[in-house]
Amino acid sequence: MKVLVIGSGGREHALIWKIDQSPRVKKIYCAPGNAGIAGLAECVPIAADDIQKLLEFAKKEKIGLTVVGPEAPLSMGITDLFENEGLRVFGASMKAAEIESSKSFSKAIMTKYGIPTAEGMVFTNYRKAEAYIRKKGAPLVVKADGLAAGKGVIVCSTEKEAIDALDSILVKQAFGDAGKRVVVEECLTGEEASFLAFTDGITVLPLPSSQDHKPVFDDDKGPNTGGMGAYSPAPVVDRYIHKRVMDEIMIPTVRAMAAEGRPYKGVLYAGLMIDRDRIKVLEFNGRFGDPEAQPLLIRMKNDIIPVMEAVIEERLHECKLEIDERASVCVVMASGGYPGSYKKEIPIKGLKDAARIKDVVVFHAGTKLKDGSVVTNGGRVLGVTALGDTVTAAIDKAYQAVSMIKWEGIQYRKDIGKKAVMRKAVIPMVEIVMGSDSDYDVMEETVAVLKKFGIPFGITVASAHRSPERASGIAKTARARGIKVIIAGAGHAAHLAGVLASFTSLPVIGVPIDSSCLSGFDSLLSTVQMPPGIPVATVAVGKPGARNAGILAAQILGISDPALSAMLDAFKKEMALQVEKKAAKLADFR
Ligand code: AMP
Repeated sequence: MKVLVIGSGGREHALIWKIDQSPRVKKIYCAPGNAGIAGLAECVPIAADDIQKLLEFAKKEKIGLTVVGPEAPLSMGITDLFENEGLRVFGASMKAAEIESSKSFSKAIMTKYGIPTAEGMVFTNYRKAEAYIRKKGAPLVVKADGLAAGKGVIVCSTEKEAIDALDSILVKQAFGDAGKRVVVEECLTGEEASFLAFTDGITVLPLPSSQDHKPVFDDDKGPNTGGMGAYSPAPVVDRYIHKRVMDEIMIPTVRAMAAEGRPYKGVLYAGLMIDRDRIKVLEFNGRFGDPEAQPLLIRMKNDIIPVMEAVIEERLHECKLEIDERASVCVVMASGGYPGSYKKEIPIKGLKDAARIKDVVVFHAGTKLKDGSVVTNGGRVLGVTALGDTVTAAIDKAYQAVSMIKWEGIQYRKDIGKKAVMRKAVIPMVEIVMGSDSDYDVMEETVAVLKKFGIPFGITVASAHRSPERASGIAKTARARGIKVIIAGAGHAAHLAGVLASFTSLPVIGVPIDSSCLSGFDSLLSTVQMPPGIPVATVAVGKPGARNAGILAAQILGISDPALSAMLDAFKKEMALQVEKKAAKLADFR
């Protein structure tokens, strides 16, 4: 099969690198491509947004599959145009791509279908927008409605900045037609993560999580760029957050798009802001992210072609993604001056040496060939991407390769992946020990509470009967590891909490789990009925107990943590308020 990839960045190089590994593919074309892509594909000089010319080319060359990288051709309707001519395209339709190309549309969809996002409003009228800004007060975020090459979002820390942003978008038309409407929304805090999934409009098949680094300088300083690096996985998206993103965002969004008569097929990208247990959508993109595509595709083990075909043919339920367990890191090397003005056509040295390092791929973005040598041709020039057994190992390998590449005026961030390392270095205060991984469904309630209060925790499995040494080892070392409270969840003759309690003087909370024909009565008695001197604080059976175990652990920690104890007080008040509200609703019931 002949494949045509549209675009010219690091994302498209990564896509082509992956597509090239498919035994199904005989020839790859790229329009317009770059110097790195030219090593794997035939580059054709057609701009990514010249969709008529691309159609003529695809028909003439009998292209079997067209893969669209950037947003512009999708928003112009390339998928609809090609499909009307009987050509197969991997990319969202024009109506579906509006989830990215119109921020007011995506805000309306999220509001209508209860998908969590920043609170905000859409305006075309300057005065009304100004009044809203004054009413809400800073900080606020002002966004041009349409595509603005990643520059249409202005995070404003003062009212004046927000009004200036409004003036520049609505009045001065800094982004042209893209700024005919603006979205003004609350400024969210937390940690950002990118969540991408393949979808055929019905099934949602998630890729691993990742995180982009938008600002140009280390420690997230300086102006925003297209992305100065990325890594995968993003530890902020743990198992609990992952499940909620799927249940509360990805699946409902795909369902919502179908219900609106805009079935979404392709890659759906949710930009998220995560703060403890609160997850909100910052934006949707209708395609792979750049640079996220590089660290994601290097981890994907499957042949990508059958997955893309399954998306097009609406049989994605047949597919399963195989993901490399290792972490990946992509460091973007950029031209000096980027994201402002920069020089072009500067010769790049060291590319071959860097590419020889095992588990490193140097993806090209803004490069071209001049007199047979690779020269710079854009702001973001290369995406040096590496795999490692740990995120630290991947970082080291990527920077080892980066250090071998040189050109005049080169710039890159030195801290790509640092947030992942820092998050992994946080010392847990609570350890959740489960008798079996099948207990997670119940113990997720504990996880939810600990997340809510921002309490760092660890979670593991140990059996009092099948791995008593492991269980005792966990308890014996807990204090030295910084643990303050142990929560043990187990079913059947649940001796786990008792065994742990006998090896530590830390408080142990036991969660009896209903997993036998005795409906949890067995685990309740074996957890609660401890001999004198070895107490286990026992909570109710099952999920309510697991939830209370989390709250009790928070209360124990709150004794020496005023901020946490204030959060617990607020939590109690909120519960009382909920009861009042329910009582009020029943007041006139006779
Ligand atoms: P977007 O293109 O909407 O993702 O915005 C680009 C960047 O602006 C995001 O990656 C965030 O860093 C920031 N941003 C967008 N919306 C918000 C918001 N509501 N609160 C805080 N930061 C935001």
